[in-house]
Amino acid sequence: MTHRFELVETRAIPELNTEASLYRHPTGAQLMSLVNAEDENKVFGINFRTPPTDSTGIAHILEHSVLCGSDKYPVKEPFVELLKGSLKTFLNAFTYPDKTCYPVASQNLQDFHNLVDVYLDAVFHPRLTPEVLKKEGWHYEVEGDQLTYKGVVFNEMKGAYSSPERILGEAIQQGIFPDNTYGVESGGHPRHIPDLSWEQFESFHRDLYHPANALIWFYGDDPVEGRFEILESYLGQFEARRIDSAVAVQPHWSASRTVETTYAASDDDGEGGEEKKHYVAVNWLLEDGIDYGTRLGLQVLDHVLLGSSAAPLRKVLIESGLGEDLTGGGMETELRQLFFSAGLKGVKAADEGKVEGLVINTLTELARDGIDPETVKASLNTSEFRLRENNTGSYPRGLILMLRSLATWLYDGDPFEPLAFEAPLAALKERVAAGGYFEGLIEDHLLTNPHRTTVYVRPDPTQSEREEAEEKSRLAKVRETLSEADMERIAAEAVQLKERQETPDDPADLAKIPVLSRDDLERQIRKVPIERTEVAGARTFYHDLFTNGIVYIDVGFDLRTLPAELLPYVSLFGRCLLEVGTETEDFVRLSQRIGARTGGLWTGSILTNQRLGKTPVGYFFLRGKGMLEQVPDLLDIVRDVLLTTQLDNPARFLQMALEEKAGEEAGLIPGGHAVVNMRLKSHFDEVAWAVEQMEGVSYLFFLRELTKRVESDWSSVLAKLQAVRDHLVNRGTLLVNATFPESDRSAVEPHIETLVQSLPQSPVVTGAWSPQLRLADEGLTLPAQVNYVAKGGNLYDLGYELKGSVGVITKYLRNSYLWDHVRVQGGAYGAFCSFDHFTGLLVYASYRDPNLQGTVDAYDGAAAFLQNLDLPAEELTKSIIGTIGELDSYQLPDAKGYMSMVRELTGVDDEYRQQMRDAVLSTTAAEFREFGDALAKLNDVGRVVVLGSKDTIEEANSARGGWLDVLPVM
Ligand SMILES: [Zn+2]
Repeated sequence: MTHRFELVETRAIPELNTEASLYRHPTGAQLMSLVNAEDENKVFGINFRTPPTDSTGIAHILEHSVLCGSDKYPVKEPFVELLKGSLKTFLNAFTYPDKTCYPVASQNLQDFHNLVDVYLDAVFHPRLTPEVLKKEGWHYEVEGDQLTYKGVVFNEMKGAYSSPERILGEAIQQGIFPDNTYGVESGGHPRHIPDLSWEQFESFHRDLYHPANALIWFYGDDPVEGRFEILESYLGQFEARRIDSAVAVQPHWSASRTVETTYAASDDDGEGGEEKKHYVAVNWLLEDGIDYGTRLGLQVLDHVLLGSSAAPLRKVLIESGLGEDLTGGGMETELRQLFFSAGLKGVKAADEGKVEGLVINTLTELARDGIDPETVKASLNTSEFRLRENNTGSYPRGLILMLRSLATWLYDGDPFEPLAFEAPLAALKERVAAGGYFEGLIEDHLLTNPHRTTVYVRPDPTQSEREEAEEKSRLAKVRETLSEADMERIAAEAVQLKERQETPDDPADLAKIPVLSRDDLERQIRKVPIERTEVAGARTFYHDLFTNGIVYIDVGFDLRTLPAELLPYVSLFGRCLLEVGTETEDFVRLSQRIGARTGGLWTGSILTNQRLGKTPVGYFFLRGKGMLEQVPDLLDIVRDVLLTTQLDNPARFLQMALEEKAGEEAGLIPGGHAVVNMRLKSHFDEVAWAVEQMEGVSYLFFLRELTKRVESDWSSVLAKLQAVRDHLVNRGTLLVNATFPESDRSAVEPHIETLVQSLPQSPVVTGAWSPQLRLADEGLTLPAQVNYVAKGGNLYDLGYELKGSVGVITKYLRNSYLWDHVRVQGGAYGAFCSFDHFTGLLVYASYRDPNLQGTVDAYDGAAAFLQNLDLPAEELTKSIIGTIGELDSYQLPDAKGYMSMVRELTGVDDEYRQQMRDAVLSTTAAEFREFGDALAKLNDVGRVVVLGSKDTIEEANSARGGWLDVLPVM
């Protein structure tokens, strides 16, 4: 097939192992095509400039809606069909303040092409109808004689605005950009979403989702011809058009401004509430059109100022004691103009006026007196290591590169510029070597820049009530204009909408969604090399993998040597190792040494059951990485911190404990589903109980008590920290996990040996924690307008025996029954269910959910749904493919090495994995029905944990005789 793309420019980018080409299509579409023969994780993305002019959430609702059926794929939710039955390594869509991105990724070529085709049809030919807007955006429902608002995005944004961090983030952005598109909320504010009309919505798509407004991205090892072919088949249907979607520049002003707003707080969080919960951030808008070299410099400056606990601006803010933790995002580089933001949260009312001066004075002193050269060296090394390692975690590399390229491309800049880093990095190093570089950046872009705001976000205990009343009165006003006939019509439309959602898609339409067949699936598990060995007597796992010159080493100690009461100290003990200082260097020097001489060092724990009911496994890890020549320094640091950390530093410890507490609190709403999941499991199982002590709501309660005790009784806290060290740091339980190529082994191993020999050896004592588990239904309250509802229990106790098919079935439940009942019909943002092979615990949990009892009822309905399921063969195949896709998810070498170790420790050997994979591949429809029988038994004995608003929880309690134990968490 011929295509009409014209090559604009090609550049080789050796540091990314790629050749990148920019093409232009006669319709105006632009294509960046990156050929990367080494990366099988292929990425496609189509991006549109979608700057909104109001806060109705138009771009965000459209993002949801185009994934609700298209001309070629006329089913309710092709996106969900892809979630069910693809080998995708990434599938999502994002709305930014000025763009909407539709990225997909897969390691399988056919699967990749399927995903691309469905996405292209979705964005160019969606079946937008008023009904889709109602479902994804907002609509009225009738409750009694009154109206209410419902809608997926409406509820999603209510959840978002329950988080003070989100309110702060919006106040920062909107305050500094009052005159352009960034002055409105692209996600949609719950107060403005109901202003969105169908006409606006429809024309937004017509105007902006056109090739002339599209920036298209391909990356990976797929053949280039295929890229042109599939694109031409869509773009060929369009004519060229001029679209003006450019993002206007925010003009600079000449005097600083103040922005003030509030968030909903409760008056009974047990901490004196509003007294300490103010947020303050100081923000500068940088000028437009900063060249890429300077941009890179500004990003390194961000690390210099805030990137580690020893970074000078962070350190001064934290040590001031004015707040509990840092806030503001540092240097923000994803919008048209960069901005810089720093401040504090957890500030007392009396102190909020002091933060602005502190930030400005600190920057002034740094610009005047100079930044410690060791700090600069450390930040430069860390930044360079990150660029070279290009470790994007679970995100495909090609996706991160796309987002980086869009930072200039979206504003008609050079899309290649943010990709190649060698030349700008070399130039940056030269400028830094000449001296005074970062001091100059602070002076020029911040201190002498009058476009500054200071944002105050204050707690308001009446806000929830007030907002609810506002919403009610707005609905009441609408109600007044409606006749009884209108009300009947609205009620009928709502019923219709529900019915439409409940009506299954026509199987003939479903069959149009392209899927792989079972024959396309790899039957064999993917193996990671592991050698079980010993170094100087220490148990060692070694993984021979290509790592691009980097050495990854994890050093672990057995957590089960700790008495139960010490478990909540582990995370802070880990921070002490890296952020307090040793006998020979204070924490600034230590942090500089880590930054300058390694690729990074951090701590983490695993705590899990084993297969076959064997004793639990728990390890505390120091995890490090570096280039081969950095290994001696890396391991020296590991030894120094393990042996000589100066734990007796109450001032520093208190800062870290407050940061940790603030972090736990800030995580409650965005991570509510994980909070209830963890809490629920903790009632059933010793290991889950221990995890909750270390990470859950119990940990938050512990931190609140601990921060008080640091001040009243430091010696008792110190004794605990010393006890953690004495128990943990023991050569007798040492475990080393190492990932790097065999060729580097002789260079690395002697250094591991030296480390092992330097550690103390004492008798190993492990015991059970034997907690008093208490089966309870709980209602954890906080000031939020959404809930997180979990229900679960132990299926093994109810007679279920493990089968590999369980993963296929729970995946199917998530993407069909739970999606339909909890999201589509219930209006929650999402719901999932998970089954733990080791313990037999099955848990359902919902996310940003307006309901409570209704969701529990939906969970209980899952059993009957499965029992009566007449599962079409194609649906079964999809679910099997999707499950295999999860099993084969893409991992970078460090993650492979770590995962392989976890499998080894938990008894998940290759034979067992192959057995489970075989079982997944041969899952039958009968197994779904059988599993329904197992779930049915859970309905009566399962327990419920809810995190949500006090009102909802109290309502549920009065409806069912106080079944939930109420526990306020905020
Ligand atoms: Zn959304």
